[in-house]
Amino acid sequence: MSESDYALERRQMVAEQIARRGLREPRLLAAIEAVPRHRFVDAANRLWAYADNPLPIGHGQTISQPYIVALMINLLRLRGDERVLEVGTGSGYQAAILAHLAAEVHTVEFVPELAESARRMFEELGLNNVSCHIGDGSLGWKEAAPYEAVIVAAAAPRAPRPLLEQLAEGGRLVVPVGGRGYQELEIWHRHGDDFSMEKGIGVAFVPLLGEYGWKSGF
Ligand code: SAH
Repeated sequence: MSESDYALERRQMVAEQIARRGLREPRLLAAIEAVPRHRFVDAANRLWAYADNPLPIGHGQTISQPYIVALMINLLRLRGDERVLEVGTGSGYQAAILAHLAAEVHTVEFVPELAESARRMFEELGLNNVSCHIGDGSLGWKEAAPYEAVIVAAAAPRAPRPLLEQLAEGGRLVVPVGGRGYQELEIWHRHGDDFSMEKGIGVAFVPLLGEYGWKSGF
């Protein structure tokens, strides 16, 4: 397939999987349309890069279904001037979309090989407002805190306290909370030293590991 074939598939993905399901914010749709999802998956999976499902990215990890990426990013209500933290870089796909929607993106990944290939992709795509750090993202990334938005791409047993602490005033945290096979999204909002929380839809993510994650997986 040529780049223009992929671009056509991408436009269809945005129309059929995302806009048709009710996510119609133009900035969000434009950001998703700007990111070549096929370059973030293994060559063996390229043909399915724009399908309506998650895909393996190696190391037992997956790149989320496009609709779930769109839905979670939409919950952050980004306007363009924010500093954002993503936990779980994986392939770098979601971070690349965030880079189009916010001023500065910090993303933390446990698996060094995944972080390194994501960094290469950010460089190839000229995304110079994303920094990818290797480490335990359940602890957040203190060096660049506070963040107007934090998004976790793995399932946590509960909203990790360090991520709540690293939220800026008025900031939002979106995190899937629950165990193997089923979690619910939680959307946390900071007001001074108080936090409010709303529940979102049911999802299925790989486990968040680390100090505030599932210590030995699910
Ligand atoms: N956002 C990614 C998909 C993430 S899959 C994408 O767009 O491709 C979840 C990722 O979280 C995996 O890569 C896994 O290695 C990572 N992960 C799990 N626990 C982590 C932790 N405590 N800190 C950082 N990364 C973690």
